[in-house]
Amino acid sequence: MNYDCDLFVIGAGSGGVRAARISARYGAKVAVAEDLYLGGTCVNVGCVPKKLFVYASEFAREFHHARGFGWNSGPASFDWATLRDNKTAEVERLNGIYGSLLDNAGVELIEGRAEVVGPNQVKVGSREYTAKYILIAAGSWPFIPDIPGKKFAISSNEAFYLENFPKRVAVVGGGYIAVEFAGIFHGLQAETHLVYRGPLFLKKFDQDLRTNLTKQMTEDGINFHLETDIAAIEKQPDGSLLLSLNNGENLEVDCVMYATGRKPKTDGLGLENTRVTLNEKGAIKVNSGFQTDEPSIYALGDVIGRVELTPVAITEAMALANNLFNNGNEQVDYNNIPTAVFSQPNIGTVGLTEEKARGKYQKITVYKSDFKPMKQTLGGGAERIFMKLIVDADTDKVVGCHMLGEHAGEIIQGIGIAIKAGATKADFDSTIGIHPTVAEELVTMRVAEPE
Ligand code: NDP
Repeated sequence: MNYDCDLFVIGAGSGGVRAARISARYGAKVAVAEDLYLGGTCVNVGCVPKKLFVYASEFAREFHHARGFGWNSGPASFDWATLRDNKTAEVERLNGIYGSLLDNAGVELIEGRAEVVGPNQVKVGSREYTAKYILIAAGSWPFIPDIPGKKFAISSNEAFYLENFPKRVAVVGGGYIAVEFAGIFHGLQAETHLVYRGPLFLKKFDQDLRTNLTKQMTEDGINFHLETDIAAIEKQPDGSLLLSLNNGENLEVDCVMYATGRKPKTDGLGLENTRVTLNEKGAIKVNSGFQTDEPSIYALGDVIGRVELTPVAITEAMALANNLFNNGNEQVDYNNIPTAVFSQPNIGTVGLTEEKARGKYQKITVYKSDFKPMKQTLGGGAERIFMKLIVDADTDKVVGCHMLGEHAGEIIQGIGIAIKAGATKADFDSTIGIHPTVAEELVTMRVAEPE
């Protein structure tokens, strides 16, 4: 059968664009449909603008540290509109680059909402396309629980475009987004409250990182409301929001941002016209080759709900394109994915947490280091560095590395390679440090924690 294209991709986010470009490079005829923005969540309302906001929010601390190094400047002031609009201009520049990437790869970009109407048919507006394969890379969308006054809450999507910067903010949740935005709002000088239903945020991370980060964020002035939920939000005559907490207390803020997870974006895709099924989390069910229960339809990225990270979606996309159009037989390895939380200070982590490693290995050895970085000696800040190595005692392999501190994400990326390559503690020890750096501590940890 003659199809309009070999691959029809729904969603021009990180995964969709990469699958489209690489498939086209292998000679496939590819079309991509997108109804919102080029580059998806990461470029528009995720990783990129978030990191720009993190940079912006770190300046307050830097201005303070600068004094110890001899710099005097006038009183600093922050202008939200400048940051917001400069960020938006940068995002628009990236939207253009994504368009050019698709164009240069010979991929047809179709603006509009795509609906699957059969195993090999997709409709965009009134036009129907046939395709040998369909790839759903529609991403995910913020989830806000149903509570009275939900309409007054925002998600991270809106936080990037606020008309006015709030004086007082409550961030709800205990995952990546909540912790990162608490740091952003606080650094940009808002009175910041973090409301989390559990006892300690970042549930999937190493316990020591979680306690150390909580301590440092508390010392920095962020207000924690742990084991607390918001029962209702009420708008007051002066425009402020009154949050009724489930512990009976009230909290008055100007903005409440929910970061309570994201849901796979499957609504309106026309999946009912196919044999595609969803799992219990509402994510599209796929096999290890990203094939859904409808053999001609594939899915990857946030919409399959495995690991909601941009580089993972990109890796999945590269594998799929190779397998479909280059006779490849690639499997994505989800072990040892390095990740960073751009909290202040940053978390960088790869491999197993101490708790997971204890469950997996007979005996582990744990090395920890907690120290004041050289920058703080003159800078005068209270920020400390925490590092931890987890070693399988039988093989001497380093099976987990966790860091809290400035540039942790940058440092752990390199350690990720070592751990992926199976480096042992002896390999770490025989590596010569770079002096004076914070990272050299990772190759000089000699004394294990007592059992
Ligand atoms: P997460 O899944 O990381 O965290 C969601 C949080 O919301 C959890 O703490 C959860 O509580 C809480 N929660 C869920 N439902 C409710 C509810 N009904 N009431 C109160 N609290 C609730 O989601 P995020 O939104 O933070 O981020 C989405 C994903 O995006 C992340 O998982 C991550 O993969 C990705 N991301 C990655 C970043 C990075 O790489 N730096 C940055 C930002 C996002 P509990 O802990 O009890 O389950």
